[in-house]
Amino acid sequence: MTRLIFLGPPGAGKGTQAKTLAEFLQIPHISTGDILRQAIQDQTNLGMQAQGFMDQGELVPDKLVEDMVEERLKQPDAKTGWILDGFPRKVTQAEFLAELLKSLGEGDEKVVNLDAPDETVITRLLGRGRKDDTEEVIRRRLEVYRDETAPLINYYSDRQKLLTINGNQSQEEVSTALKNIIAA
Ligand code: ADP
Repeated sequence: MTRLIFLGPPGAGKGTQAKTLAEFLQIPHISTGDILRQAIQDQTNLGMQAQGFMDQGELVPDKLVEDMVEERLKQPDAKTGWILDGFPRKVTQAEFLAELLKSLGEGDEKVVNLDAPDETVITRLLGRGRKDDTEEVIRRRLEVYRDETAPLINYYSDRQKLLTINGNQSQEEVSTALKNIIAA
């Protein structure tokens, strides 16, 4: 049973790696960013509430993403494992998740910290061209990452859940490192 949380700055390659690994392991890849972007496209209530925050590179309010993650983790296909990508993004969300997983009897998750330097992630994001990949919004997302999300590295390390991988290498090298680390 594999339950993994992917942590790392925007542009570190979390999405790509999480998707590939989830396919390999045949478990759902749960990306909060993807779910939110789909909600915006479908013009749902959630999408309309989230859009302004996302366009500015700000975090969407906890309650919105927490409800979304809870609903997703309770789906039958998530009973065989999952990869969470983009959640939790701050300590309050991590605490929420710990409680949720405890209540589901799924508290054995590991956290993969995919790290990469700012120059690398900025170059990658500028080349990607998503709506929130303008220079100004990227700068804000990196700031939010540093202030809100990076503290989760210590949070999970203190709880002996953290595994670290260097994201500043080729996609194939990261994939191999990931498979090795989860097999260990
Ligand atoms: P990236 O890894 O490039 O930052 P994501 O797709 O993970 O991209 O996230 C895009 C945006 O979606 C974030 O900037 C934020 O506005 C919103 N978002 C995604 N996950 C969360 C979360 N757990 N909490 C709050 N906002 C979130």
